[in-house]
Amino acid sequence: MSNQRVIIVGAGPSGLTAALSLTAAGVPVVVLESRSEVSQDPRAATFHPPTLEMYSESGVTRRLHEMGIVCPQWQFRGREEGIIAEFDLGILADITPFPYRLQCEQHKLVAILTDILSERSGFEIHYGSAVEAVSQTATGVTVTTSDGSSFEGAYVIGADGGRSAVRKSQDIPFDGFTYQERFLVITTTTDFARQGYTLSCYVSDPREWCAIFKVPGGGPPGLWRVVFPTIPEAAAADLLDSGHAEQRLQGFIPSDEPYQIVHTNLYTVHQRVAASYRQGRALLAGDAAHVNNPLGGMGMNFGIHDAFSLGDKISRVLNGESDDLLDLYDRQRRHVANAFLQAMTISNKQLLEEKDLAKRAVRLNEIREIAADPAKARAFLMRTAMFEGLRAAEAIH
Ligand SMILES: Cc1cc2nc3c(=O)[nH]c(=O)nc-3n(C[C@H](O)[C@H](O)[C@H](O)COP(=O)(O)OP(=O)(O)OC[C@H]3O[C@@H](n4cnc5c(N)ncnc54)[C@H](O)[C@@H]3O)c2cc1C
Repeated sequence: MSNQRVIIVGAGPSGLTAALSLTAAGVPVVVLESRSEVSQDPRAATFHPPTLEMYSESGVTRRLHEMGIVCPQWQFRGREEGIIAEFDLGILADITPFPYRLQCEQHKLVAILTDILSERSGFEIHYGSAVEAVSQTATGVTVTTSDGSSFEGAYVIGADGGRSAVRKSQDIPFDGFTYQERFLVITTTTDFARQGYTLSCYVSDPREWCAIFKVPGGGPPGLWRVVFPTIPEAAAADLLDSGHAEQRLQGFIPSDEPYQIVHTNLYTVHQRVAASYRQGRALLAGDAAHVNNPLGGMGMNFGIHDAFSLGDKISRVLNGESDDLLDLYDRQRRHVANAFLQAMTISNKQLLEEKDLAKRAVRLNEIREIAADPAKARAFLMRTAMFEGLRAAEAIH
């Protein structure tokens, strides 16, 4: 059994999705997770249509809908100018059963996946198991955890996040850059829909851009998250202080009532892609393979797409197809990580923060024109809703 099983490092969205795909094909998996419980950090909350399509068969999509908020429209705004453009994913109803973004927190996805997987045979998970070393021979891998346990399998998937121990164990470079400013995420009960904001909005400003979106939280009426850039020199404790959060929100939309601040979180943000997603029997997926800024809500979705692609290819290899399929995985998914994920998220941030007023005016006009022209709006939504990247990956042989 162990020479046919796959070891998955990391029980985040990517690792558990790989487990979902592999167990559906009858391949046994063992998942090793360093934490003792699911992280509740407010990270990803946006699911794009292709991701909902991929999860449909397993029942994950239905369960996400039970908890999530359907968000068909999103706005692009200027802080001074107000609404620049509003996009409606409804125009993609002819190509997807899910023509909207679904807002639902990442930790709820992890709980749903764990629940579904725990009912499947061939699924094993070990919490509190931090992987420290990975070695491989021509026929298999051995993965060792900090408590000295070792696990053997046919392949190992590093789905262990941006600091991936699996990636480091294989000496795979992770080139790119880190932004100087960290991103401050403020969660509040204030309902921005009352001010005309759609459930997902990007607000451009040369001094202080922001991104706003609604999440379900503990249930209706839900919570709103606002993402702001920060000054690189500022101390984390000052940025995380609720008085500071209040000041930032009051500066953005003045209110007579104080804002009720639920959480503040600070994230260092990187743009990096692994130099290879495959080293023999070690494969990378998700943040272990690529990290990016959260503007556009793509990192988790991209990792899920990696995991479905990799799960399919590993199960086919274990069923006798050539292991060239794993090189194809590397070519397809690494190409689109560079050409779509990195390119789009870097450009999203540049558009929001543009300080050259002439350039900014040109960019905002481009967005207005795209929204006003149905053919251009459709092409733009095909790209931002992640269909185009998936098609580009499939076109690589
Ligand atoms: C503020 C913010 C907002 C975001 N919003 C969005 C969004 O709306 N949409 C979107 O698509 N993406 C978004 N993202 C990105 C998204 O959160 C990540 O891309 C996603 O978490 C990646 O999932 P993953 O499973 O690859 O990695 P992770 O979620 O990082 O999971 C890795 C797992 O591996 C475990 N692990 C780590 N090291 C080891 C080890 N040595 N041994 C065993 N286990 C280990 C960790 O404990 C963790 O459980 C956002 C990110 C941030 C910071």
